[in-house]
Amino acid sequence: MTSYDIAIIGGGIAGASLACFLAPQRSVLLIERETAPGYHSTGRSAAEFTLRDNAPAVNALARASHGFMMTPPDGFAESPLLARRGAVLVGTAGQEAKVEAAYRRADAAGAAVLRLTTEQALARVPFLDPDYLAAACFDPDYWDIDVDQLLQGYLRGARRHGATVTSGAELCGARHDGRRWTLETTAGAFAAATMVNAAGAWADAVAAAAGVQPLGIVPHRRTAITVDLPNGTDAAALPEVSDIADRFYFKPDAGRLLVSPADETPCEAGDAQPEELDVAYAAHYLEEATTLEVRRIASSWAGLRSFAPDRLPVVGPARDHPAFFWLAGQGGSGILTSPALGQLAAALLAGGPLPAALLREGVEPGAFSPARLI
Ligand SMILES: Cc1cc2nc3c(=O)[nH]c(=O)nc-3n(C[C@H](O)[C@H](O)[C@H](O)COP(=O)(O)OP(=O)(O)OC[C@H]3O[C@@H](n4cnc5c(N)ncnc54)[C@H](O)[C@@H]3O)c2cc1C
Repeated sequence: MTSYDIAIIGGGIAGASLACFLAPQRSVLLIERETAPGYHSTGRSAAEFTLRDNAPAVNALARASHGFMMTPPDGFAESPLLARRGAVLVGTAGQEAKVEAAYRRADAAGAAVLRLTTEQALARVPFLDPDYLAAACFDPDYWDIDVDQLLQGYLRGARRHGATVTSGAELCGARHDGRRWTLETTAGAFAAATMVNAAGAWADAVAAAAGVQPLGIVPHRRTAITVDLPNGTDAAALPEVSDIADRFYFKPDAGRLLVSPADETPCEAGDAQPEELDVAYAAHYLEEATTLEVRRIASSWAGLRSFAPDRLPVVGPARDHPAFFWLAGQGGSGILTSPALGQLAAALLAGGPLPAALLREGVEPGAFSPARLI
C-alpha cells in the first residue's frame, strides 16, 4: 500500500489548488471519484471574479487571490486567467438607495466606479429596458476567470512537484489506526498521515465515512441558462449586468448570454440538474430587465454551492480529529478564492508562514477554523 503525507479527497478547484501549493513541501495524493476533475461545481460556475460581492472575510480572500490570478507563476497558464469585464449594477424603481450604497462602497474602496444615467447604462448594455431601469452604476472590478486553465494549471503544478492525481477513484471508507489513515477507494487502498476533505457538496459525507463529526455543510442548487445574444452584439465589450437585489445576473459566456436567477435551493449532494421552474425564472428576469424576448434556451445547467452554517469557508484540522483537515464550504466563491484558500490550507498543513498577500489583506485563519462551528 503506497503511503503519502497528505491524501486530498476531491479533485475540484479546492483539492487541486491545495495539491499545487502543497506538493513542493509534502508527498501528496489527490483522490477524485469522477474521471474528469472539475466535473461538479468547479465545471459549472459563472466564472466570475469579484472583489466586493461577499462577506468581508471572503472579500479579503478575493483580494489576496487577485495577484496570483493576474500574474500566475511562469508556466502556470498559456493565456491570462482573468479578463476584465466590469459590471453594471442595476436597480428598478424603489431600489435607488441600494444602487447608491453599492456605488459608495466601491468608491470608498478606491474603485473607478461610475454612477450611470439611463442613457449611459444603455450605451454599455443596449438591450436594457429603460422602463425597468431606475438607477445604475458601473463597477470595473469584475473579471471573467478562465476556470479550465486555472484548474489544469493547478493539476499540472501538483504533478510537476510529484503529486499523484488519481481520478475515477471514489473514497468508500477511511480508518485511522492511531498513526495513519487507511483509505479504501474503488481504485484500491492508500495510506496517509493526514486526510484532507475537499469533497465539495459531499464534505459532510466524507467526514462521516472517516468517523469525524460532520459540520452541517449544505449544498444549495444554482441554475444557469444561455440564450443567443442579439445580432451584432460585441460580447467582448458587454459588461455583466447584476441585479442590486441579487435576484439575477447575466453576462456573456462563450458567444452567448449566461443568465442565472441566483437561486439557492438546499438539496442533497449529487449530479445537480436544472429544474424547469428555475430555468423559467432565469428567462423571466431577463425579459423583465431587458427588451429581449427569450425564444430559445440554448443550454441550461445547475451546480451546487455548499455552505457551512455561517456561510464562511472551513479550513483547518477537525476539532475531534487532528489528522482530518477540512477544506470545504466555499459557497459561491470557491473559484475566485482558490489561490488564497489553497495557500492558506498548505501553510496550515505544512506548518509554514502565511504568504505575504494573505497577511497584507488581513486574512485571519481563525475566521475559517472548523473549531468555530462545533
Ligand atoms: C451556477 C454556479 C455559479 C457559480 N459562480 C461562481 C463564480 O462566478 N465564481 C466563483 O468563484 N465561484 C462560483 N461558484 C462556486 C464554485 O463553483 C464553487 O465554490 C467551487 O467550484 C467549489 O469547488 P470544490 O472543489 O469545493 O467542489 P467541486 O468542484 O464539486 O469538487 C469536489 C469534488 O469532490 C469529489 N468527491 C466527492 N466525494 C468524493 C469521494 N467520496 N471520493 C472521491 N471524490 C469525491 C467530487 O466528485 C468533486 O469532483 C458557482 C457555482 C455554481 C453552481
